[in-house]
Amino acid sequence: MTQIPPSLPLRALFDAQYNASRAQVGVPLALRRDRLARLRALIDSHAPALAEAVEADFGVRSPQLTEAADLFVLRAGMAQLHKHLPGWMKPQRVATPLYLQPARAHIQRQPLGVVGVIGPWNYPLQLTFGPAATALAAGNRVMLKPSELTPHTSALMATLVQQAFAADEFSVVLGGPDVAQDFSRLPFDHLFFTGSTQVGRQVAAAAAANLTPTTLELGGKSPCVIDASCDLNDAAVKIAHGKLLNAGQTCIAPDYVLLPRDREAEFERAYTAAVARLFPRIAGNPDYAAIVSERHQARLVALLDEAQAGGARVVNVAPPGGTSGGARQMNPVLVFDAAPGLRLMGEEIFGPILPVVAYDGIDDAIAFINLRPRPLALYWFGSDTAARDRLLNRTVSGGVTVNDTLMHIAHEGLPFGGVGESGWGSYHGEAGFLRFTQQKPVLVQSRWAMGQLFYPPYGARFQRVMGLLKRWL
Ligand code: NAD
Repeated sequence: MTQIPPSLPLRALFDAQYNASRAQVGVPLALRRDRLARLRALIDSHAPALAEAVEADFGVRSPQLTEAADLFVLRAGMAQLHKHLPGWMKPQRVATPLYLQPARAHIQRQPLGVVGVIGPWNYPLQLTFGPAATALAAGNRVMLKPSELTPHTSALMATLVQQAFAADEFSVVLGGPDVAQDFSRLPFDHLFFTGSTQVGRQVAAAAAANLTPTTLELGGKSPCVIDASCDLNDAAVKIAHGKLLNAGQTCIAPDYVLLPRDREAEFERAYTAAVARLFPRIAGNPDYAAIVSERHQARLVALLDEAQAGGARVVNVAPPGGTSGGARQMNPVLVFDAAPGLRLMGEEIFGPILPVVAYDGIDDAIAFINLRPRPLALYWFGSDTAARDRLLNRTVSGGVTVNDTLMHIAHEGLPFGGVGESGWGSYHGEAGFLRFTQQKPVLVQSRWAMGQLFYPPYGARFQRVMGLLKRWL
């Protein structure tokens, strides 16, 4: 497990990157674009092999899903970086207030230095190469530690990156939690972590010892609110898609549904039909991903067992005949009347289980959300825009999609990230570029500076100028 390519030990690799970043502080546009182009070429020329590796890691995970949710998203993000880089790199002119005239001011955007990226297994290409590409575009050196739970994918990424990049430019470090811990203790200029809230806490603590700033892209329970004004047949397809993409192993998957109390039976029917439409069978369906490991599957089964023992009604919504076989393809289920104290209602589910919570009035739904940690995503379905605004104005979440699920992550113009226990800091687009950039304010003084009027000795002139300024401001 503990294997660190290239042949440099972890600390030596960091030192090489660190020294290179200090030797070349300014990183020109051409070099940034060249690094992006090399990463893009690596992805394009090895896309089938990368998708095969992801499939081998999951057991079942369609290459089309990897093409859409990993590679397409990566390409879109990198195309945007390539296009906007010249504008984003430029010094930003800032207007100067009267009392500092005739000085001039601007913000110089500089690389931070060495960025560490720790990634999860669920979208193992998008969530590793994505932040790495953004950090490279911002002129940084990057060390990337992908997940040990996708060993084929991570090993292939390491080999390909080693072929295309110098070790002090961009490197992949392989290993499990032991290596990850050592990795998170390196004095990076920024550490970007995507994973669970529990591990995120440990990463933040390790980084704090070095005063390394972090971005934490974590998980949580993302609510999906169905308004009384909602067309359930349309919503159910979009909810089933968001929930069952990658078999629920998606950080922003709707974790549970909140719906008006009298619409539970209607939702059960609509969701069952939606599942059958998207996945006519479960077992042996190449479009329906497997749960990543036996351990993860056992946890999901335990959540369901506990819910059932606690009096919840568990409804298997797999199409008839499509019972789960081997390969860890777990049947989608709805869970009604789950007691709030159940693990199912406290832990992020990360699987194809969808609890349905009935509410009496929209204020109850808002209170339910606000009693819990702030979620990574929130979904709202309906046509009553006043009800929508009421909910959006009274809840805080990392992001929102209205009348669909997941899609806000695909909009490169929107910053993506969590809030509170679902993380801090955001990326994608310019927000991502700035995440990995030092925004250095520069004031260029003129020979005659208004500030000289404030120098001591403080006398009548000082009083006069201050009096004028007080009246002006
Ligand atoms: P995880 O936290 O178990 O592991 C993530 C990474 O952290 C892995 O590379 C692992 O090796 C490393 N790691 C493990 N222990 C560590 C330690 N002590 N110190 C430093 N690093 C350590 O998460 P996971 O199971 O790979 O991913 C699932 C979780 O990630 C879910 O909670 C999901 O919601 C979240 N997630 C969030 C986003 C997002 O963008 N917000 C995206 C995908 C997944």
